[in-house]
Amino acid sequence: MQTNKKGNIFIISAASGTGKTTLVSRLLKNNGDIRVSISHTTRQPREGERHGVHYHFVPKEEFESLIRQNAFLEHADVFGNYYGTSIAGVNELRGQGYDVILEIDVQGAEQVRRLLPEACSIFILPPSFAILASRLTNRGTDSEEVIRTRLDKARHEIGQAPLFDYIVVNRDLAEAEAQLGAIIRAHRQTLARQQNFIEHLLSENF
Ligand code: 5GP
Repeated sequence: MQTNKKGNIFIISAASGTGKTTLVSRLLKNNGDIRVSISHTTRQPREGERHGVHYHFVPKEEFESLIRQNAFLEHADVFGNYYGTSIAGVNELRGQGYDVILEIDVQGAEQVRRLLPEACSIFILPPSFAILASRLTNRGTDSEEVIRTRLDKARHEIGQAPLFDYIVVNRDLAEAEAQLGAIIRAHRQTLARQQNFIEHLLSENF
């Protein structure tokens, strides 16, 4: 998709267990003009995760060297591992005219908002803490202690939700996906994104 217009940036954050990854993958499947930025991380791949598809899995030394080279738009320590968004990766997608989703945590969201105030930020909430706790428990991947830590972190992250432009409650996957799509389409029509077209129209000789 080659256009003259640079794609928009959408920051999507949520506490772990909210269903953000599922939501984003549905959104990507149904919208060919949106891409997700593939982050770098120092965490180990989970079963089924592939290098260059889900993440760029890199050793800590390489990640730290990339930090020194200013290769990241933002980076953060999440649950003891580094995660970061590559500037080159994002620019490449935007240059091709794609809208780019940054699926990042609240620390990264804060950094991007500061650097790119025009980015649109969306926070996904669970319908309740009880549902979040049961989703984390049902994953069956974590001990009770890890779940407790994740819930404490969730409370902190949800406390940051008022800093975001939009809030979506993930009660029902299809409804939340529709709301996300509506936010993205509305953001594309804001004055800031359409100013050039107005000027172009007014410059027509008629
Ligand atoms: P997971 O290890 O479960 O894939 O991700 C853990 C957390 O790290 C999630 O909240 C996810 O959104 C966040 N994350 C993933 N990539 C990035 C990134 O590039 N930067 C930041 N700041 N957070 C990220």
